[in-house]
Amino acid sequence: METIFSKILRGEVPCLKVYEDDLVLAFLDIGPLTRGHVLVIPKEPAERLDQLSDESAAAIGRVLPRLCRAVKRVTGVDQYNVLENNGPRAHQAVFHVHFHIIPKPNESEGLGVGWRPGKLEGGEALASDLRAALEG
Ligand code: AMP
Repeated sequence: METIFSKILRGEVPCLKVYEDDLVLAFLDIGPLTRGHVLVIPKEPAERLDQLSDESAAAIGRVLPRLCRAVKRVTGVDQYNVLENNGPRAHQAVFHVHFHIIPKPNESEGLGVGWRPGKLEGGEALASDLRAALEG
């Protein structure tokens, strides 16, 4: 699917680049939640994380901690969230895989998370189903 990030990858739309290698690009988010909000994207045109190749996933995983360290160092903020949304109901607005690195300088700034824990029921069967799905 054509997205604003495909245009950035082709150089048709500018971005403030932070990092690039053969498989990954990182740049500043145009609408930052806080100073230092960075997006990390694969060059592979996958819409959602479950569609991403192992190669691109590994390339992102390799550089994410390094990018987090750079964001911490430059912003002076030692706490942060890494967020990756999949699907419009899950707040995905750009349909190309992207990881947000969002500094959390205090309670009110940065990512706000609604978290309502439930009770784990049927866990044994669920874990077993998931293990079987991973084998398939
Ligand atoms: P999401 O809701 O996870 O899909 O987030 C999409 C993110 O992309 C938002 O935080 C936007 O601010 C950001 N964004 C959209 N267009 C651009 C752009 N041209 N350059 C940088 N960031 C962008």
